[in-house]
Amino acid sequence: MLQFTEISYLQYTIFTMKNLLIKIFLFLPFFAFAQDYTIANWFNDKSSATVLTFDDWSPGHGTIVAPLLIAKKLTGTFFVNEKTSSLGGGYWAMTNAFNHGIEIANHSATHPDLTTLTPEDLETEVNGNKATLELNIPQLKVFTFAYPFGAANQMVKNKVMEKHIAARGVYTPALWDYSLNTINNTYDNLGTVAVSPALSSATFTNFVKAGIHDGGLITFMFHSVYNASVDDHWYNAIDESLLSQYLDSLKIYENQTWVTTLRDAIKYHTEKKSAELFMLNQNDSLWTLNLNDKLADSIYNYPLTVKLKIVEGKQVSFIVQGDDTLAYHMKADTIVFNSVPNGSNIFIALADYNPFNSLNPFIYNVHIYNNPLTGTFVCAASSNRSFLATIIIYDLNGNSVQTLNSVNFKKGENKIPVNISNLAVGNYLVSISGEGFSETYRVDRK
Ligand SMILES: [Zn+2]
Repeated sequence: MLQFTEISYLQYTIFTMKNLLIKIFLFLPFFAFAQDYTIANWFNDKSSATVLTFDDWSPGHGTIVAPLLIAKKLTGTFFVNEKTSSLGGGYWAMTNAFNHGIEIANHSATHPDLTTLTPEDLETEVNGNKATLELNIPQLKVFTFAYPFGAANQMVKNKVMEKHIAARGVYTPALWDYSLNTINNTYDNLGTVAVSPALSSATFTNFVKAGIHDGGLITFMFHSVYNASVDDHWYNAIDESLLSQYLDSLKIYENQTWVTTLRDAIKYHTEKKSAELFMLNQNDSLWTLNLNDKLADSIYNYPLTVKLKIVEGKQVSFIVQGDDTLAYHMKADTIVFNSVPNGSNIFIALADYNPFNSLNPFIYNVHIYNNPLTGTFVCAASSNRSFLATIIIYDLNGNSVQTLNSVNFKKGENKIPVNISNLAVGNYLVSISGEGFSETYRVDRK
């Protein structure tokens, strides 16, 4: 049985003299290797990443901070000591924060100096706390850690990095560049800015701007946050109104810096280092690409922002990867889209670029629909004059498996049957291209 997913079924193309000039270029062989791409340093091509981190889950965290982040559409990372924190708001508040995209992360069970512990106690403090948090918060996976007091030696770092992808320290680096001050590509002791009541909103903003300037990841380390009704004065306590000022100034820079969690910043940074984009197959109307970081997809599943050059005279009809249609936008001759680097094929359907113009317009409407009884789909078209089209069916490796040349569409309504009963069960892409248009549809041959 055949089933069709129509991606776009109604599109008007205006065919003009100007457009004919563009078409001349299309008869030349065109070259667009996957070399003509870059992966943005940070998600959505932002200049830097900014992560707000909050240590100890003190009383203000679940009651003031998390709701404020959610209200301002921001996010952050909370490092929780399960055994000693007052659990401000309890697991309910942690779960609620987590369900709003906020990261719940590990700060050890009882906040000891980890460098003084036996191996057994170190295991309990590090991996035991991780397991307890994951047990109590549905769906939670703990990815990152913060050292209590910033204390870490090599044994502590090794233990932490067994089951975490990154750890935050307490030192402040001189430069917030893309190297993240990591040695040998390890993320086991990332720098931070310590927030205290002495840190003015203007100084906070200057740090955000330094991160944008240097192009790296900047983290802020917060502790207690209080207001008139929540008494939270454990350490370096700041008033809710000061936090609110920080957040409002951060919002101003959201178009330049990616405000995210430590988890997602490190996932992205790690994937970006190893991901490569391959062009598997390329023709006039369909590109088949593959983005792979060769990392474990169970952990490294954050979408990377790909910037890929498109051929002159072409525009993108749609991008699909697996079952997902990917959003994209154009920046001059470059298409920008987000894609998980899990090795599944990416299809970019291309059409000729047709600027609207009322001179001698060629107006058409092409779409396909199926006939499940006979293993045949119907290519329907209506237009204001006759035209010839080529219909090519591709498998998901981008290989053409069936081609119909010079299909004659008459002026007016047409219904052309295409028999694909000889094709194996599976997904296919059907490309229909003719005079100045090219459209691709997804087909599921059941
Ligand atoms: Zn702490």
